[in-house]
Amino acid sequence: MDEARTRRVLVVGIDGVRLDLLDTLATPRLDAVRDAGFLAPVLIDEQTPTMSGPCWATIVTGVHVGKHGIWNNDFAGNRLVVFPDFTTRLARVFGRKTFVAAGWDPLVLARDGGPLFTAPTRLVYVAPEAHTAEAWEQVDEEITVDAEAVLRRDPIDGSFVYLGAADETAHLHGCGPRYRDSIENADARLGRLLDAVRGRAEYEREDWTVIVVTDHGHVDEGGHGGRSTVERTAWIAARGPDLAPGVVPDRELRHVDVAAHAFAALGIEPDRHWTLDGEAFRTVKDSGT
Ligand SMILES: [Zn+2]
Repeated sequence: MDEARTRRVLVVGIDGVRLDLLDTLATPRLDAVRDAGFLAPVLIDEQTPTMSGPCWATIVTGVHVGKHGIWNNDFAGNRLVVFPDFTTRLARVFGRKTFVAAGWDPLVLARDGGPLFTAPTRLVYVAPEAHTAEAWEQVDEEITVDAEAVLRRDPIDGSFVYLGAADETAHLHGCGPRYRDSIENADARLGRLLDAVRGRAEYEREDWTVIVVTDHGHVDEGGHGGRSTVERTAWIAARGPDLAPGVVPDRELRHVDVAAHAFAALGIEPDRHWTLDGEAFRTVKDSGT
């Protein structure tokens, strides 16, 4: 790892995006992340409900559902005090600056047993004006505007930006044209976040790891929670200094790997008393320098 350069990590979580539809949609910014690194499926394990709460908790804590204790979309009874999300742990234990932007209540508010993100350095929350696809698109838009400003300006080590409109649209309207449009909208917003990163004054002296991840799929009529392959199939895309372009890690990827890779990309080893269930995605050999 080059000590003269600053490492930073951005995780973009896009809720409920079906892997099998990606090839049929215009998602050029996600394609670019894939081409610079990889995009690979994740099969949600047998123990984990195919619901947003448990899957996002696994993604951002790096431990399985039996440890973090979030089994559905009521987060009560969670063990986040012991197994916090990566932004909270980076901030509280390692003194790093972290940023979270999200519009789904239990991720960031004391609602429904939340928040999942207990104590990042900086937090943005936007509430929907109504439970409609249009209102959720507006939430994603405002989240993106705020995140662009922070990412472009501030020295944030680890960020998580959540886009939820595609999932809400599938629940409301099924996996038809509106859902597909919403996924393309999410891709455009991902692009703006990446442009903000690239627009940083310090960018030439920074090494950014970008991870894009979805939590679960959807049945055709919209909905998830069952054990069908389309519901259990999620995906992870990533690029960064530890990842070779076009090389997919030679193993089955899991949601727990996201937080593990975020820590590893920053050169941080979580302490030996707090064992992560995931592993970093490394496809470039560490030079040992
Ligand atoms: Zn979800």
